[in-house]
Amino acid sequence: QADMAMYKAKSCGRNALYFFDPRMQSALDERTLLEADLRMAVARGQLRLYYQAQFGQDRRILGAEALLRWEHPTRGQVSPGDFIPLAEASGLILSVGHWVLETACTQIRAWAAMPETRELRLAVNVSARQFQQPEFVAEVLQVLKDSGADPSRLKLELTESMRLEDIEDSIDKMHALKAHGIAFSIDDFGTGHSSLAYLTRLPLYQIKIDRSFIRNLPDSQNDAVVAQTIISMAQSLGLEVIAEGVETESQRIFLERHNCRVYQGYLFSKPVPLGQFEELLNVTDK
Ligand code: C2E
Ligand code: MG
Ligand code: MG
Ligand code: MG
Repeated sequence: QADMAMYKAKSCGRNALYFFDPRMQSALDERTLLEADLRMAVARGQLRLYYQAQFGQDRRILGAEALLRWEHPTRGQVSPGDFIPLAEASGLILSVGHWVLETACTQIRAWAAMPETRELRLAVNVSARQFQQPEFVAEVLQVLKDSGADPSRLKLELTESMRLEDIEDSIDKMHALKAHGIAFSIDDFGTGHSSLAYLTRLPLYQIKIDRSFIRNLPDSQNDAVVAQTIISMAQSLGLEVIAEGVETESQRIFLERHNCRVYQGYLFSKPVPLGQFEELLNVTDK
């Protein structure tokens, strides 16, 4: 209470009373500063893609998820958990997301030249705001064309929690991209509120079980049931299922026993810079 300042807001044109917490002001200033920095991050080359391998049976690398990193000149590495929400709220996600697509597609094209990498599929996270742009389909196809990347090497991750405001429009967009060979994955599955009926209408390739259900396997009876249910549902729908955040061998064994055969997590590899990811490929292939 003591640090609450009371303001009379004249600017509202009314004599409204606001209770104002100075800590909120500094949080706002912080956001504004970070947003101004992010605005320039693309142009200044401060964004990087890290690659986290996705593994199949026998530890074979099937592909990777591209994860954005921001090398801030003074703050060091800023976590996407901190700047992606900011980018979404400010609209900067559109230019950031475009950079991610371009960089990922350029990488797909480069990998096509090498036998060890040309079969890889690269997953790119797409935010709701980006996906809902009317130009989204045209944008993706243009980036693919400009980079010369094979569309069937690209996978787009949409998170389940994102509100697909116009379902019909979303389905149309997915079909249009799928027709070119692009695959879709539903990220963080189990954390949103999508109904089964709705899910079956989406032209999906893959479902990604959210890390929160993997964390306490195999001990948590509840999470075990959720994981098993998602796996069997995915199988019934003819979708690939991947577990994210697999950290221990006992989690992997549980998943394997319940027919989940694709994994991503620290047990296998953390997200790493390109060079390290390519090293991982050579090591694992031998
Ligand atoms: P996500 O798409 O669900 O990505 C998985 C997150 O889990 C990544 O965090 C990854 O580093 C982390 N992770 C993977 N395996 C493990 C594990 O075994 N244990 C633990 N504790 N964590 C693991 P990261 O890189 O911090 O990214 C956080 C989120 O930021 C992503 O969640 C995604 O929603 C968003 N994001 C990242 N890159 C992009 C991007 O290029 N575009 C958009 N729109 N969002 C992005
Ligand atoms: Mg993801
Ligand atoms: Mg995820
Ligand atoms: Mg997640």
